Amino acid sequence: MENNIIIASDVLSDAVRLESANKETSKIIYELVTEISEQFLKNNAMVVAIVENNSCSIDGIQQMLGCTFGKGNLKFKDNGKHVYTFYSRGNDKALRIYLKYNLSEKVGNFNKKFNEGTLTAEDEKQMFERRKEAIKHLMEAPEEELFDVQWVEIEEPKKARLYPSLTCENCGETFMEIKGRTIDGKIVCKECFQKLVH
Ligand SMILES: [Zn+2]
Repeated sequence: MENNIIIASDVLSDAVRLESANKETSKIIYELVTEISEQFLKNNAMVVAIVENNSCSIDGIQQMLGCTFGKGNLKFKDNGKHVYTFYSRGNDKALRIYLKYNLSEKVGNFNKKFNEGTLTAEDEKQMFERRKEAIKHLMEAPEEELFDVQWVEIEEPKKARLYPSLTCENCGETFMEIKGRTIDGKIVCKECFQKLVH
């Protein structure tokens, strides 16, 4: 069992690491998925990914683990953190991976200049070089330098539910009932509520 835990954490760490570096690694992805299936997802238990940012790392998780919003097994917590928790239904286990490697720190203040629109051609070249070096390091660095990985106890994530629809009394469009609001005695969608509230 201990071995399984180590393998599972290695595999999932690699999954996050690979996509963080935005690499084309279809062969490795295939191997990862195979290993995850064997080691982590026993009894075909479904994995639920709880992600705490909406960066390109999530594309990798969707692609590699098949966790998507549509299937209800991808949950987004808007914390702006590189934290990924994988919960295995059936096994009632959750693996929390924190990517502690700070890529933007390595790139320096170029991001700030980029946002301000003051990046010169020379800056851009340097930024690209630094980023390339940082990614190279990211790909080669030992796990301990990049990730904090731990098993955690979490509540079982709620399964996807179907909610009834209501029609907005302001715009006439339908919306999910639990997202509705009332204003001036009318039941309205959230979007209209934000326009009408004063
Ligand atoms: Zn509306």
